[in-house]
Amino acid sequence: MAPAKILVVEDEENILQVIKAYLEKNHYIVYEADTGKGALNLFEKLSPDLIVLDLMLPDITGEEVCRVIRRTSGVPILMLTAKSSEDDMVNGLLMGADDYITKPFSPRELIARIISLLRRSQNPAMAANPGSPLTFGGKYLSIDHELHEVNIQGEPVALTPIEYKLLEILTKYPKRAFSRLELVNLIQGDTFDGFERTIDVHIKNIRQKIGDNPKHPVYVGTVFGVGYRFLVNADE
Ligand code: CA
Repeated sequence: MAPAKILVVEDEENILQVIKAYLEKNHYIVYEADTGKGALNLFEKLSPDLIVLDLMLPDITGEEVCRVIRRTSGVPILMLTAKSSEDDMVNGLLMGADDYITKPFSPRELIARIISLLRRSQNPAMAANPGSPLTFGGKYLSIDHELHEVNIQGEPVALTPIEYKLLEILTKYPKRAFSRLELVNLIQGDTFDGFERTIDVHIKNIRQKIGDNPKHPVYVGTVFGVGYRFLVNADE
């Protein structure tokens, strides 16, 4: 397979160079833009396989760039956000970015996210049928994002809206660790009291309902001192 082409959009020169160096070390072809308009131009010309997009740009925001690209393309977009603004992360996902990473980030983490996004976009089973249910563990667990339905071994499971939303977020980004605060932010808008520790209660209920052993979970794993992550990738 030809090396993936990655467009990096970042106006801070030193961050751009660090990202570029790591990506090239990992055999990606890197294109760079330091403005939103420059990014849109290059996107048209080069059809990159993935875009790393800074949220705060000197001309138009990363948010706007994302919106324009999404009108015509489903290219994976990884948003870079500042640590101070938790809300940005949430908006990043809502505005059509596929994932986000907060500054400062480790280059290794960035590469891991990129690999996972590329794998997802290159997996024909997932790309061809975005509306079909995702299954995990050899069809043990299936989630239909259109019907908001969760099945265990073909039998429907009754989850509360918040439990569903949590499971939806975790399964959409397998292996990705979410802090409790991120999860709180991502499910806000639903009737939720907003306390980070309440997440633990919901996770406990989800594990029970999907038959996951809390001591040795196979699906919903605990990331100690951080939060939770979904442990398995979707079935091919
Ligand atoms: Ca910036």
